[in-house]
Amino acid sequence: MSDPAPASKPADPAVVGLVPRPPDRWTEILDSLDDAANLVHVAPDVVKRLRVPRRVLEVAVPLRRDDGTIDVYTGWRIHHDTSRGPGKGGIRFHPALDRWEVAALAAAMTFKTALVDLPFGGAKGGVRCDPTTLSLGELERLTRRYAWEILPMLGPDKDVPAPDVNTDGRVMGWLMDTISLARGEVSPSSVTGKPTVIGGTDEHAGSTANGVVHTVRSVFDALRMPVAGSRAVVQGFGKVGAPLVFLLHSAGMRVVAVSDVRGAVHNPGGLDVPSLSEHATRAGSVAGFAGGDDLDTLDLFAVPSDVAIPAALAGTIDDTVAARVAARVVVEAANGPTTAAGDRVLRERDVVVVPDILANAGGVTDSYFEWAQNRQGVAWEDGVAAGLLQRMMRAAFVEVWERAATLGVTLRRAAYAVAVERVGAAINARGLFP
Ligand code: NAD
Repeated sequence: MSDPAPASKPADPAVVGLVPRPPDRWTEILDSLDDAANLVHVAPDVVKRLRVPRRVLEVAVPLRRDDGTIDVYTGWRIHHDTSRGPGKGGIRFHPALDRWEVAALAAAMTFKTALVDLPFGGAKGGVRCDPTTLSLGELERLTRRYAWEILPMLGPDKDVPAPDVNTDGRVMGWLMDTISLARGEVSPSSVTGKPTVIGGTDEHAGSTANGVVHTVRSVFDALRMPVAGSRAVVQGFGKVGAPLVFLLHSAGMRVVAVSDVRGAVHNPGGLDVPSLSEHATRAGSVAGFAGGDDLDTLDLFAVPSDVAIPAALAGTIDDTVAARVAARVVVEAANGPTTAAGDRVLRERDVVVVPDILANAGGVTDSYFEWAQNRQGVAWEDGVAAGLLQRMMRAAFVEVWERAATLGVTLRRAAYAVAVERVGAAINARGLFP
């Protein structure tokens, strides 16, 4: 444990022995937990248990590079809470990953799965590495060794990983194969987001984006705003952003600006989405698309719109960006895109924010469908999963909207209130061993 000591905030005494550096994301999750517990009167003893991740496994991941040398990476798998069911959460490969970020993401999964009422707890994992520097063979060896090291944490009734930033169906296939070989059995329900040929589902790729669109429809209905003809801006054109832009366009919205890490493009009349997509496939970026004007990525959220959708990285809407947001609604497709300071500014400016744990829950909900089908050994008929996803996302939105009205708080605080209440009830029902 060699992370530097905290620069400004003191460590939470409850976790001092576990890890020495509490960065903002983890602190923010704990603040949301405390706030929600106060709102819905969850007992302090229950909150204490949720302030410490249930299990944290840190592993060395040695990798034999193609040139024969060996590099050693660090990886984690964390179960935040498993009172409501097996841990569920993605695996991320990223050079800036640390255990605090993994813990914060695991906790967010606890609350997200509870909010949509899935029978899962919260987990997350990953390896601190830059996968763009690895060959395909190196990526596979890294994935398999990491899977081997975290194997004791995994299993259909323990913890079910899925793709996250920089991991995909191929990585999930290697993970599922490693788990299956280690156990001497074929275990499709141990991983979701797999290729369809080994038990994945067709819907998974677009499920987060699909859920975001259900959320956009719900919040527009609640605010009596028409969907057709409304303007959207989207930050990020990856696994979530690219299908999302398509779906918004198909719903009759005008997507007026889109960005990715290399640039942004703007057309106040609405971008021609199929052509933009072709351009991005060809050029590797939305930047330089001839059907719009180039835009500084920093100006994306200042483009006038009805809904702004961050679908890239965490922390992109800070107080400075929030002061320039020119949309009536922000729907958080990314995890943690708005900082606490940014959230305050948006609230002061009366911008309605649909929080990440609600807006992007479509992915984990579809993962639940995949896990359920794998366990049943039966593929559901076409349309069943899509219909269920719509019903569950709409129901979660209505519950949060109504709770926000009852409590007189923002949608974010109401979402945490519903989730923490549900997790707290499960903790109480199970009691404390011994
Ligand atoms: P991805 O890596 O496929 O795509 C990320 C996109 O963001 C890329 O287009 C990249 O160019 C862009 N980007 C990066 N930095 C940027 C910047 N500074 N400005 C503008 N664009 C930038 O990742 P993804 O799977 O699409 O995930 C996006 C977000 O959604 C993440 O926060 C992730 O945790 C969250 N999320 C993803 C899923 C899922 O199913 N993939 C589910 C729930 C939440």
